[in-house]
Amino acid sequence: MGNNGRQKDHAAELSVMFSHRKIADAQATYEDARYVIFGVPFDQTSSFRRGSRLAPDSVRVAYDNLESFDFQYGVNYPDLPICDIGDLYVEEDPKEVVDDIERSVKHIVDDGKIPIMLGGEHSLSTGLVRNFPDASMIVIDAHSDFRNEYMGNIYNHACVTRRSLEILGPGKIFSVGTRSVSKEEYEDPDFSKVRYFSANEVRKTGIEAVIDEIKKKAGDRIYFSIDMDGIDPSEAPGVGTPEPYGISSTDVRALINHFAKKIVGFDIVEFTPVYDNGNTSMLAAKFIQDFIGSRETHS
Ligand code: MN
Ligand code: MN
Repeated sequence: MGNNGRQKDHAAELSVMFSHRKIADAQATYEDARYVIFGVPFDQTSSFRRGSRLAPDSVRVAYDNLESFDFQYGVNYPDLPICDIGDLYVEEDPKEVVDDIERSVKHIVDDGKIPIMLGGEHSLSTGLVRNFPDASMIVIDAHSDFRNEYMGNIYNHACVTRRSLEILGPGKIFSVGTRSVSKEEYEDPDFSKVRYFSANEVRKTGIEAVIDEIKKKAGDRIYFSIDMDGIDPSEAPGVGTPEPYGISSTDVRALINHFAKKIVGFDIVEFTPVYDNGNTSMLAAKFIQDFIGSRETHS
């Protein structure tokens, strides 16, 4: 046996002994996958508490503790076509990172697959949204993220909803859980081009009324972005900019469940493990299961 053969044997043996950290149920190859999970460890423009660059692996570790079977959706996740291609190598400049995400997600979308991004900060979503200019968007967020620029950068995380509006146009973005808006954003003539459901409105009318309204307006292709600070800090404390009086995790799950079959791309951003008690990583992992499970369910 020549050297090449020996190396091949070693490679096979080593690949069994060592692992890249990946979502435990992601057993498919890229070619076979319908869902392509990837991480983007980037939090360069975070303004308050940094650390979302550490989120992707924290979610993967939490995911290890979830049951691989879900009786409610009737799915066994390892049997589903899911792959995890690892983390993007990131540059320093948020514009470059967003461009890199746009380019890599274009491959995934061209191949007929659904991208699922683990951020990283919220600015990264722009790279995905650019691939879906004809879609509507549901955003979970405490913040309106409607600044034109922040700290000198239009690719700051505080600007992502405005960047999305520029791509998708008026009447197509539904942001749920809002409770932090600057005066300047609130008075902006374009502010009403996004439908902001405040956390108070969700509490008052119930999430079903929110779903009904979005259902009437959103069409058949929806991009879904979860900024973890949209959820109440008591349930999701591990975030960069926590805001009291949030919506509940089950409100978010109801939206995912209802719209799953129309969702063309999905992200979870702004989770910051250094401030977590373990609940936020678990919830982020669970949202991934809820998305894939309810999209694949036949019931
Ligand atoms: Mn945000
Ligand atoms: Mn936010």
